[in-house]
Amino acid sequence: MDPTLARLSEIPNLTVSRDAPLSAHTRFAIGGPADIYAETESVESFIQALAVARSSGRDFMVMGGGTNLIVSDLGFRGIMLRFVARRMFAAGDRVQCDAGAVLQDLVDFTIDRGLQGLETLAGIPGSVGAAVYGNAGAYGHSISERVRQVRFFDGECVRVFDNAACEFHYRESVFKRHKDWTVFSTELRLTPADAATLRKTADDIVKVRNEKFPVAMKCAGSIFKNFLLAELPPAVATQVPEKVIREGKVPAAYFLEQVGAKGMKRGEIHVAGYHANLIYNAGGGTAADLRALIEELKLRVHRQFVVDLEEEVQYVGF
Ligand SMILES: Cc1cc2nc3c(=O)[nH]c(=O)nc-3n(C[C@H](O)[C@H](O)[C@H](O)COP(=O)(O)OP(=O)(O)OC[C@H]3O[C@@H](n4cnc5c(N)ncnc54)[C@H](O)[C@@H]3O)c2cc1C
Repeated sequence: MDPTLARLSEIPNLTVSRDAPLSAHTRFAIGGPADIYAETESVESFIQALAVARSSGRDFMVMGGGTNLIVSDLGFRGIMLRFVARRMFAAGDRVQCDAGAVLQDLVDFTIDRGLQGLETLAGIPGSVGAAVYGNAGAYGHSISERVRQVRFFDGECVRVFDNAACEFHYRESVFKRHKDWTVFSTELRLTPADAATLRKTADDIVKVRNEKFPVAMKCAGSIFKNFLLAELPPAVATQVPEKVIREGKVPAAYFLEQVGAKGMKRGEIHVAGYHANLIYNAGGGTAADLRALIEELKLRVHRQFVVDLEEEVQYVGF
């Protein structure tokens, strides 16, 4: 038996498997196997698994719900770890939530308790841990606005950061710059409000989102990050029509549309005909085609506008 697999198998409360097909763990439904896949609800077991992964000298990474990952067709020659604890507690206007919880469950939990602040995140797929990591958001709001504290493991010890220390920005946080850190839980501060009104807001958002991203669509939402208008080169910013600018951001879709991205295809990987920043697997698509299509789009936009699109999705095993 593989010695790393044997050591991981000895850790209590850790579920371990070998040659786990990551296509089964990603929304794109693309990707070869991870040599080893291990998940647990226990902080102690997760820390032990990380120690084994580190000492093995093999590559390792932490995943959540796999909704923002593009995994190579050859898979991941390493150890894929997942922290799946999902507890949530509310005390007054504060909510404590484990990183493995589904973000939508947290949104529902807060709405049911008449707590405002997360309702615009309704319908964003994935886990709470990854939402903190990538500062997930929609409709002009991001999770960072409500995060009070984040509890995480830095590879040596468990630490707690307050909001400022998390260095949140648009789809950014300190955790994104420390790939070896794992978020275990977060505490949020919300605002008391009428539950029925919050529910209506969330339901309306989910309805619109489901039209744009049908629930069975094999995709990662937006492939590229939008641009902050203030950060675009002035010569480019002046070319952008005012009507496309929203909350100080220029949608990546604007540039993609100008270069003819809508409806482009490579194998079974398609750019949606109605949304230039949405790429999906029409069934049986490959990571190679997906990556090649992304590179083609980046090249086209760079050639025409001399701006560089940046992926919101994360690559694994490339
Ligand atoms: C249809 C669709 C619509 C979407 N719409 C939006 C949207 O409106 N707004 C938005 O912000 N995003 C959106 N996304 C992107 C996606 O939902 C978010 O990026 C989400 O936060 C990813 O969660 P996940 O658990 O699936 O993470 P994964 O895809 O599994 O991982 C993403 C990254 O998070 C890291 N990570 C995961 N868990 C942890 C942890 N516990 N500690 C540290 N790092 C961790 C991983 O290492 C990886 O780098 C959309 C995706 C889809 C498929």
